[in-house]
Amino acid sequence: MKITDHIKHANQTLFSFEILPPLKGQDINSIFDAIDPLMDFKPAFIDVTYHREEYIYKDRGNGLLEKKTTRKRPGTVGICAAIINKYKVDAVPHIICGGFSKEETENALIDLNFLGIDNVLALRGDHIKSEGTFVPDPDGHKYASELIGQIKDLNNGIYIDEELQNPVRTDFCIGVAGYPEKHYEAPNLKTDLKYLKLKQELGADYVVTQMFFDNQKFFDFVNRCKDEGITIPIIPGLKPITTEKQITVLPSIFHIDIPEELSDAVEKCKSSDQVKQVGIEWTIKQSKELVKFGVPVLHYYSMGKSQAVKQIASAVF
Ligand code: FAD
Repeated sequence: MKITDHIKHANQTLFSFEILPPLKGQDINSIFDAIDPLMDFKPAFIDVTYHREEYIYKDRGNGLLEKKTTRKRPGTVGICAAIINKYKVDAVPHIICGGFSKEETENALIDLNFLGIDNVLALRGDHIKSEGTFVPDPDGHKYASELIGQIKDLNNGIYIDEELQNPVRTDFCIGVAGYPEKHYEAPNLKTDLKYLKLKQELGADYVVTQMFFDNQKFFDFVNRCKDEGITIPIIPGLKPITTEKQITVLPSIFHIDIPEELSDAVEKCKSSDQVKQVGIEWTIKQSKELVKFGVPVLHYYSMGKSQAVKQIASAVF
């Protein structure tokens, strides 16, 4: 079922969460172990992230380094299929522009369609870790909006090869990313929202936001979106702080602010358990306030910490 249909038919805020594929070489049971504790809260859908390739350098032993490409967390599509099969819950694969030609994207979408997966979160993806800026594939997409255009084309039966006879139409529901504290490359929120609006115009069905720790930033974002004519549902993304280190790591990775009240509370903690509890209580407070605001879904970045999300869900749902 499409995410937009879940939202349309719900009479209360829905629960969903995001997981990462396991590191290469690990068992899929590590994923099931992360999902199992959260099934009691009847997630409407589960997102599975996509991780692009990285460069590693192997010492060849003769003073030279060999550059190799590796993908540390493969398996997004397989995990989505396994989730649907095992839990009968909708799984949303993230698909990215980076590292994909248009032809490869088309083939990936055909795979998803054959697997009965009709939801995708369409993203540009970040730059390769060792590269400073995002470099699109020579025959790929530069922005998520272009990727949305290709998915929408496929939904209309338009493939790259125009000579295909009666090609089937796919029927993907398309989610996109939004940034209450603006995307780090955007000069300002207004410009960022101009491109978010473009994503809506090209066919995006809903938005999932980057994590934020100050609800006022989300409320302001939703109001600005309305002012700019962005009318598709906006789903807040929430991440509980689980370690003291995250107070500095999350802002540097995700370009978001941690409110003083939260960082002060974490600093005062005397143990890692206390930090976890502070993070959980903060997210519970955020969640309850967002439910009151009337958000369609609360979407949690579990990042392998299902126990924290479980405690939050127990208090909210
Ligand atoms: P875009 O919408 O393309 O925007 C990128 C930048 O370009 C923005 O600054 C925007 O303002 C600007 N822009 C957009 N369109 C245009 C245009 N036509 N002309 C000029 N400028 C434009 N990354 C992963 O690698 N894998 C994941 O699984 C993943 N999951 C995510 C899930 C969520 C909910 C979120 C919020 C992010 C996720 N990311 C993931 C990170 C995301 O890929 C990065 O934030 C990336 O840098 C931007 O992706 P985007 O889809 O927002 O890009």
